[in-house]
Amino acid sequence: MQEVIIGYQGEMSLKGLNRNQFESALIKILRYRLKDAGRFAVWCAQSTFYIEPEDDAADLDLAFDRVKKVFGLAAVSRSAVCEKDFDAICATAESYLGQTLNGVRTFKVEARRADKTFPMDSPALMRELGACLLSRHPRLRVDVHHPDCKVIVEIRDRGAYVHGPKTPGEGGLPVGTSGRALNMLSGGIDSPVAAYRMAKRGLALDHIHFASPPYTSERARRKVVALARRTSVYTGSCNLFVVPYTHPQECIRDNAPPMLFTVLMRRSMMRIAGQIAQKQGCEALITGESLAQVASQTVQAIRCTDAAQELPVLRPLIGMDKTEIIETARRIGTFETSILPYEDCCTIFTPPHPKLRPTLDEVLEAEAAMPGLPALEAEAAAAAERLRIRIEEAELDWE
Ligand code: ATP
Ligand code: MG
Repeated sequence: MQEVIIGYQGEMSLKGLNRNQFESALIKILRYRLKDAGRFAVWCAQSTFYIEPEDDAADLDLAFDRVKKVFGLAAVSRSAVCEKDFDAICATAESYLGQTLNGVRTFKVEARRADKTFPMDSPALMRELGACLLSRHPRLRVDVHHPDCKVIVEIRDRGAYVHGPKTPGEGGLPVGTSGRALNMLSGGIDSPVAAYRMAKRGLALDHIHFASPPYTSERARRKVVALARRTSVYTGSCNLFVVPYTHPQECIRDNAPPMLFTVLMRRSMMRIAGQIAQKQGCEALITGESLAQVASQTVQAIRCTDAAQELPVLRPLIGMDKTEIIETARRIGTFETSILPYEDCCTIFTPPHPKLRPTLDEVLEAEAAMPGLPALEAEAAAAAERLRIRIEEAELDWE
């Protein structure tokens, strides 16, 4: 029996004339993601994606696992394919799902006839296939509202597809179809989740991380590499820029009012990120900030950070509670790495009483008293190290 994976479009299906571009982008991503799972034919017809093994060596379990994590698909299913012939459909449904039906009490058949040349209409197909399965499983009952199991049959161009309930996909839009942005990646819980959320909206990403050796360690840096790798299952392969931030940070520590240290440092990071973003063709910055989570995330502090450079700053977690963020971090597999206890440069030199409501005027005044800072920032940006984060290495251990 031939088995394939079917992917169902989510929001993409609402796109008008440029839907083709979204479909081509998704096909390319699927092919790339399945490269090491064996040989598959991937195509799209009538808004549905098909992933068909081309030989026995193709690993369908691995492929299904991968496809579930690709943004752009609202649902996926593994399906048996047979001829568009009623008897063949009955036999396939029995051999593919018969065992499952033995283990449940109620079921329902759903049918969809995309190929209108098939002689039975959908209601007739549902009725007849239901009767056929009932005759083979006499203790089974039909329940159209809350069935224990659904048998779905879809009559499409290339054949009849028979499968059980669909599995939810990741939803969202194919990565890259919304442009490219630079994600500010710390070692914490929030910023990997922010990357995940924006990639889900179709942004291709690079990451930037600020390290301040010797105050921050090599292990802290390796942890960030591990987080970028883990996230790559969703974002795809990307660059991670590691900026040596010690000198600008010391300059701020030594020359600015301690109460303003954090907001000044965040503005400085934004300026450097803005410079690297422009060089890389990134059109926005992303942070894991969440309103009022810490002193630098009040509305007033955010106003000051936003004014530091020109690119839009996307903050997908702004309205999320920490518990909600943690839930996502667990689901996408970054939480356990994020909670490893290594220092971040954002948490060194922090004053005991950071100002909760800084004004732009006082911040600009403090910056005017540090005329050497822009040169140090330019030096740091120029010395940024570019690491290639490869999706193939997503599972590598972080040490
Ligand atoms: P996280 O869990 O992401 O570390 P947080 O609650 O600890 O977030 P902050 O330390 O204030 O918050 O940082 C807010 C955001 O600033 C982070 O989500 C991240 O986007 C960015 N950021 C913080 N530290 C760094 C860093 N060292 N390098 C790059 N970006 C950083
Ligand atoms: Mg942090």
